[in-house]
Amino acid sequence: MNAKNSQSFVDDFMNYVKSKDPRQPEFHQAVHEVVESLADYLLDNPRYLHARILERLVEPERIIQFRVPWIDDRGKIQINRGFRVEMNSAIGPYKGGLRFHPTVNQSILKFLAFEQVLKNSLTSLPMGGGKGGSDFDPKNKSDNEVMRFCQSFMTELSRHIGAYTDVPAGDIGVGGREIGFLFGQYKRIRNEFTGVLTGKGVEWGGSLIRPEATGYGAVYFAKEMMSTRGESFAGKIVCISGSGNVAQYACEKVIELGGKVVTLSDSSGAIYDPDGIDTEKLAYVMELKNIHRGRIREYADKYGVQYMKGQRPWSIKCDVALPCATENEINKEEAEILTRNGCFVVAEGANMPSTEEAVRHFINTKILFGPGKAANAGGVAVSGLEMTQNSMRLAWSRKEVDDKLHSIMCNIHEMCVKYGKTTHDFTNYVKGANIGGFVKVANSMIAQGLV
Ligand code: GLU
Repeated sequence: MNAKNSQSFVDDFMNYVKSKDPRQPEFHQAVHEVVESLADYLLDNPRYLHARILERLVEPERIIQFRVPWIDDRGKIQINRGFRVEMNSAIGPYKGGLRFHPTVNQSILKFLAFEQVLKNSLTSLPMGGGKGGSDFDPKNKSDNEVMRFCQSFMTELSRHIGAYTDVPAGDIGVGGREIGFLFGQYKRIRNEFTGVLTGKGVEWGGSLIRPEATGYGAVYFAKEMMSTRGESFAGKIVCISGSGNVAQYACEKVIELGGKVVTLSDSSGAIYDPDGIDTEKLAYVMELKNIHRGRIREYADKYGVQYMKGQRPWSIKCDVALPCATENEINKEEAEILTRNGCFVVAEGANMPSTEEAVRHFINTKILFGPGKAANAGGVAVSGLEMTQNSMRLAWSRKEVDDKLHSIMCNIHEMCVKYGKTTHDFTNYVKGANIGGFVKVANSMIAQGLV
């Protein structure tokens, strides 16, 4: 298909999306990346165009928005906004996390839900796509405030979700504590102990390896990409951003595979530890972040290393970059610095952490770039395995779950190569992931008729 045709196809489609929702830049960004990857494939396979699959994919099946009133510790009434975007249920119940962060709005959740549809399809498990959350900020809130908020949030959300309908999980700002409060309230309202959420505690229906899954999965994916060039993590310098759940377990797996992690960050700044974060220092980070809910600056104070206030870690020389914080955290300039410094692997642990210009730069320079919907699919994959275990009323061992996670990440890598290999020595993983995720959903939508 000639380039002019596919460019005008992309432009026309983006004009259509933007005219419907002009003020949703993150959603446009996510859709644009996918449509660019799919254009040639769609023009070569017109049955998807006739069925108007793309137009249907960008239209959420349902969006629920609701008021979340709660009372803070001073007795003051607080009002937040709650959402659930039920994007696509062609291959299974809606599945995707809840994000609690002040930036949450419809644009952010539609981008995340759209990504989730293709990501979940890549896992090969039967999960549709959704995403939800609230503009509630859990930072500096007491456990009681978080509980009251979660209970109010679930009081409304419980009408819309269910083990066979929509199964939320965690995302930024929603971890084990929040999932516990949400699950408790669902059970109380519905009088039903069911696998309605994933990321549950292992004592009450959760899966082993779920907390580790996104970080481990991103490293497994990076390892597969590296092996196509005869490389491995041994001796590699690795920059990780973030210091939450994804970053922590990515760090743990890199250490295990012999790499040296030299950075972590949070929204206030980054630390640079040239000696590498070892298991003991990582245990400190986990306690600092998960128990004390402290700031990464305290790591720099404790170990006497450099703190880069207000900065991201990408100026530090590395071989591998694992962005595990949030969207748009690597811009074009940072992407150029990374590759100039010799970085040849980027695997996205977060959702859409690289801007479109950064992605273009990584692809043009032919480094190994693993987009989030492939590289971070391990989290939702183990959520899918948690659903399986809940249905069976059985629990698998750590090794069983980890082996399954590993083989799912290898399959996703294979799928990306199948659809994204452009020359004998280069795979465009963005293209591979987008086409690979699309085909199953699109075929299922056609089979199920116009719904
Ligand atoms: N929030 C995670 C993601 O972005 C996990 C979702 C889930 O486990 O359902 O994929």
